[in-house]
Amino acid sequence: MKTAAEYLESMQSLNPRIFLGGRQVKLMEDPTTLTVVRANARVYELAEEPQYQEVMTAVSPYTGERISRCLHIARSRDDLEKRAGMATLTSQMLGTCNYRCVGADTLNALAGITWEMDRDLGTDYHQRFVNHLKYLQENDLACSGGVTDPKGDRTKRPGQQEDPDVYVHVTEQRSDGIVVRGAKVSQSGAIGSHETIVIPTMGMRPGEEKFAVAFAVPNGAPGLTYISQYTPFTAERELMPDTKYLGNPLYGQRETCIMVFDNVFIPWEHVFMCGEVKYSGRLIARFAKTHRMNCGGACKVGFADLIIGATQQMAEYSGVQKAPHIVEKITDMIRISETSRACTVAAALKGREEPAGSGFFMPDDIFGNVAKLTVADGFWEIMKWAGDIGGGMAVTMPSELELENPETGEYVRKFMRAAAPAEVRLRLAKFIQNWCAGLHGAGTWHGAGSPQAQKMALYALTDLESKKKLARDLAGIKE
Ligand SMILES: Cc1cc2nc3c(=O)[nH]c(=O)nc-3n(C[C@H](O)[C@H](O)[C@H](O)COP(=O)(O)OP(=O)(O)OC[C@H]3O[C@@H](n4cnc5c(N)ncnc54)[C@H](O)[C@@H]3O)c2cc1C
Repeated sequence: MKTAAEYLESMQSLNPRIFLGGRQVKLMEDPTTLTVVRANARVYELAEEPQYQEVMTAVSPYTGERISRCLHIARSRDDLEKRAGMATLTSQMLGTCNYRCVGADTLNALAGITWEMDRDLGTDYHQRFVNHLKYLQENDLACSGGVTDPKGDRTKRPGQQEDPDVYVHVTEQRSDGIVVRGAKVSQSGAIGSHETIVIPTMGMRPGEEKFAVAFAVPNGAPGLTYISQYTPFTAERELMPDTKYLGNPLYGQRETCIMVFDNVFIPWEHVFMCGEVKYSGRLIARFAKTHRMNCGGACKVGFADLIIGATQQMAEYSGVQKAPHIVEKITDMIRISETSRACTVAAALKGREEPAGSGFFMPDDIFGNVAKLTVADGFWEIMKWAGDIGGGMAVTMPSELELENPETGEYVRKFMRAAAPAEVRLRLAKFIQNWCAGLHGAGTWHGAGSPQAQKMALYALTDLESKKKLARDLAGIKE
């Protein structure tokens, strides 16, 4: 497995075409793109630490070697539970994305679908997939996951769009591979990954074959451009001479980008679906199943642990920790977070082999969807109480730099202290600001799919007929 140092070294030799804030930047030089690299390096480091080995690593049935769990295909309920555990752990340690998460879930969805296509259609996608997976595992490569297309006018199908490029599609099939055009949006950490694993954003229908495409693409392949998100946090990081004054100093925000595919060539050995529309819906459904448990649920439980910890700490710094309403609010935060944790554990423990006979395991849909939905609403609630207990200071605080200013330092020390000195209160308030007045609300809402998608899935998956029958039987109503 790669060490964190080896990962950092491997990033030096990449040269992705990245734009940020209207200018081209270098991955290993820009203060914002560096947060992605640092977060990824920390994930490699966690895998090296003996106390996290069970969660962060697994033994590959393909290579017989210990590998990163980010590249492992779940083969049991225990694997699913540990995968969810990894999502929580990395969130606790980073306070931002484990940028290898979406890649892990696209790989898990592809394992089963390629197996199924080969069984039904006599293709060789699974063998290609396994060959590539072994290469990823042997080299311990970081993979991001390219799922979300720009989608253009949401009322129109891909083929009806004015510009077909709003969905990634195949423009040419050659003897040696395919050429793809389009874009994937909101791509977490793609800039700092070795590869991106691309799958269709939704199920395609007959006539939409060119959009039913899945493949692996290396970072910086000719024709790829990464246009990074730009937020007030990016500007603040660019301005701040010392990162310790930022809310999440080392790892920053969840950094995403638009990944543009301008006629990118993909050799056949890296193509895992090309035109099989019938299987594209199942592919995205399996991805959603695993991603809602991991990113939708378990990851945000790790974030919630950080917010709850910061809020309790701030209550103590302010001297209000024993007030009954504070205890009640902290308890409410814990209830929401632990309910979400319970749903992710249930999704893993109720997981099953899918497709039957493949040996691959997927989490339970209903619990996975409920985990994401509980988090989507619950995260706003948790942030509400953190904002309440943190006080107005979380959004009105002066810069910590004032402490070093001879003209204002003493005033700030004097008026910002409470049951703890101004220094720690300011530092923690900035941390709370990072969550409550930042990008995480909308990010958590849409990450792993907008909640309406989970509600539709939950309604469709639930056996309402059997529930109706239970009610009719007990009420004494005959058919
Ligand atoms: C922080 C963050 C990280 C992310 N990381 C990744 C990543 O690494 N890889 C990746 O592939 N994706 C990633 N995503 C993308 C994420 O999966 C999408 O944001 C999500 O699926 C919603 O899609 P959208 O953003 O295009 O929203 P939209 O589709 O614009 O949704 C906006 C609203 O419109 C509604 N809507 C959409 N379509 C329809 C329709 N046809 N009919 C009726 N209502 C509709 C939605 O329910 C929602 O209410 C990330 C997103 C975030 C916020």
